[in-house]
Amino acid sequence: MKPFRYERATDVPGAVTMLAEAPQGAYLAGGTNLVDLMKLEVATPDLLVDVRRLTSDRIEKLPDGTVRIGAAVANSDLAADRGIRRRFPVLSQALLSGASGQLRNVATTGGNLLQHTRCVYFQDLTTPCNKRDPGSGCSAREGYNRELAILGWSQACVATHPSDMAVAMAALDAVVHTHGPDGERAIPLTELHRLPGEEPERDTVLRHGELITAVDLPPLAFAAHSRYRKVRDRASYAFALVSVAAALEVTGGVVRDVRIALGGVAHKPWRATTAEEALRGTQATRERFRAAAEAELTEARPLAGNAFKVPLARNTIVSTLLELAGEQR
Ligand SMILES: Cc1cc2nc3c(=O)[nH]c(=O)nc-3n(C[C@H](O)[C@H](O)[C@H](O)COP(=O)(O)OP(=O)(O)OC[C@H]3O[C@@H](n4cnc5c(N)ncnc54)[C@H](O)[C@@H]3O)c2cc1C
Ligand code: SF4
Repeated sequence: MKPFRYERATDVPGAVTMLAEAPQGAYLAGGTNLVDLMKLEVATPDLLVDVRRLTSDRIEKLPDGTVRIGAAVANSDLAADRGIRRRFPVLSQALLSGASGQLRNVATTGGNLLQHTRCVYFQDLTTPCNKRDPGSGCSAREGYNRELAILGWSQACVATHPSDMAVAMAALDAVVHTHGPDGERAIPLTELHRLPGEEPERDTVLRHGELITAVDLPPLAFAAHSRYRKVRDRASYAFALVSVAAALEVTGGVVRDVRIALGGVAHKPWRATTAEEALRGTQATRERFRAAAEAELTEARPLAGNAFKVPLARNTIVSTLLELAGEQR
């Protein structure tokens, strides 16, 4: 591991200033991803600004019913929160499907959103990787790519985003609050992460030094009927091959409203707006669910090693929606 300086700021603007003055610096939260990457020398920050005690570790209900989650809330606390389990079960289920109990006790909301891809070449300094070393090439495109993207990838990078929590938040219309060198802003979660395009080294739209301070979940009554389904190689301690976060409102056998997001398929949580539009106002039947899933996946471009993900994503969308519809009969 390369030597680095460790600092604790006393307030948010102070932390932002510290990183603004350190182009190679990074924020440290739980450290469960960043420290691993530092040990591998994939990440080599010369300054770590510890933000674990700086941002809020509380889950608050705002007067309009929005739930505000502080960036330092531990993944285990968020998953266990009674209000989250009742109003947004998809989020609790997504969190509990990730990592392990010990990791979730330490990992934070902000850090989870900004965790780095698990593409094996990204973590292997001996291989070309445009995300780690821009311009060096992409080893995965013609190499081992079973776990990687089927949607939205570019010639420069075919990686996927690994977070389960972010997929649930994408389905829930979450909004991310940040404080950066240019002040505060609110970013819809679906716009936080980027597709790789020509700049795969940029995972998100955040600027250097922009700190995530909180995530808001707006009120969404039918999110009480929501589910996270994760397909993976092992029953625990494995990242998603494909995951589906869905919320569904059905009355009289008709889909009144729906939210769907996919994980394990793209460089960002993939909000399935085409499927959602196809479903609103239609009969809640297997055939309609399947047609909507197929419409969403028409733009899928599987790689040599992951064609299985297209039918897997389709079937997982259908089974998740059927389960939710079945509960509302
Ligand atoms: C063995 C293992 C298995 C795992 N399995 C899963 C899984 O199945 N599903 C899943 O979703 N995750 C999984 N994870 C990942 C885990 O969820 C993340 O490591 C964790 O959520 C990261 O949170 P952290 O607080 O430790 O972040 P850190 O490691 O501290 O930081 C991660 C990144 O976020 C930045 N950062 C942190 N906080 C902020 C902030 N407030 N503002 C701006 N930048 C910030 C850091 O600079 C760094 O780049 C696994 C991890 C391990 C080690
Ligand atoms: S897919 Fe992206 S992260 Fe993986 S080797 Fe290619 S450029 Fe690197």
